[in-house]
Amino acid sequence: MIRTADLIKVFRTDEVETTALSRVNLEVKNGEFVAIMGPSGCGKSTLLNIIGLLDNPSEGEYYFDGQEVGSLKERSRTLLRKGRIGFVFQSFNLIDELNVYENVELPLIYLKLKSSERKEMVEKVLTRMEINHRKNHFPQQLSGGQQQRVAIARAVVANPKLILADEPTGNLDSKNGKEVMNLLTELNREGTTIVMVTHSHHDSEYAHRVINLFDGQIISEKIKEEMGEIY
Ligand code: ADP
Ligand code: ADP
Repeated sequence: MIRTADLIKVFRTDEVETTALSRVNLEVKNGEFVAIMGPSGCGKSTLLNIIGLLDNPSEGEYYFDGQEVGSLKERSRTLLRKGRIGFVFQSFNLIDELNVYENVELPLIYLKLKSSERKEMVEKVLTRMEINHRKNHFPQQLSGGQQQRVAIARAVVANPKLILADEPTGNLDSKNGKEVMNLLTELNREGTTIVMVTHSHHDSEYAHRVINLFDGQIISEKIKEEMGEIY
């Protein structure tokens, strides 16, 4: 599903040049659950942004589902992203002015689905995330765990084949964090590919494979021998 070849990302601001990624070669197969770890500033978010088609590499190639997408213009990247990639962030990134239902409905509006279809899909995912009883609440009226369940509902409502999660449990207590990891595991078992950035060794235990990034390079990789042993 994902393959990068000698991916390089350089940020240039006035006189400063930062190499965030230097020659990253990464392959993620359909159905995998991969964790990316490494110290602050090593390029994790940059890599996730490129994988998620939010940003372009400076050099190298990125193949998403067999198509070279590293050199696409922003408009084409946005079109390709829609309905295919779901994002989950540490800070939830919900829209405060929209209630739970409206937040989750948003991706379906972008996909131009009709209202009846949207309603069915939103209700279904809210029920699954056990948050349907809060559908008229606004994000600020919810606990952190509830907000992250809404964010996951929004990420998966259009049935994307890839979920990208950036420190998804970073703002949660251990009980809610565990719940979020269990939800991601469940989605993965149903076939969704997951790439997650995390600082938490506990969370990385849920992944099939852990990739260690240091100074913009993959320095090591650990494959879990037994999948699903976390249960
Ligand atoms: P991580 O997610 O591992 O903490 P990042 O991918 O955010 O690391 O950042 C990698 C490096 O690139 C850091 O040195 C950071 O300062 C730099 N960087 C990230 N984004 C930008 C940007 N938009 N402009 C300039 N430098 C950036
Ligand atoms: P949890 O045990 O899931 O972490 P909390 O103890 O934080 O939940 O909250 C309990 C209930 O109170 C939640 O169902 C939530 O909807 C509601 N709630 C939490 N914070 C607020 C708030 N600031 N305003 C309104 N309702 C809130």
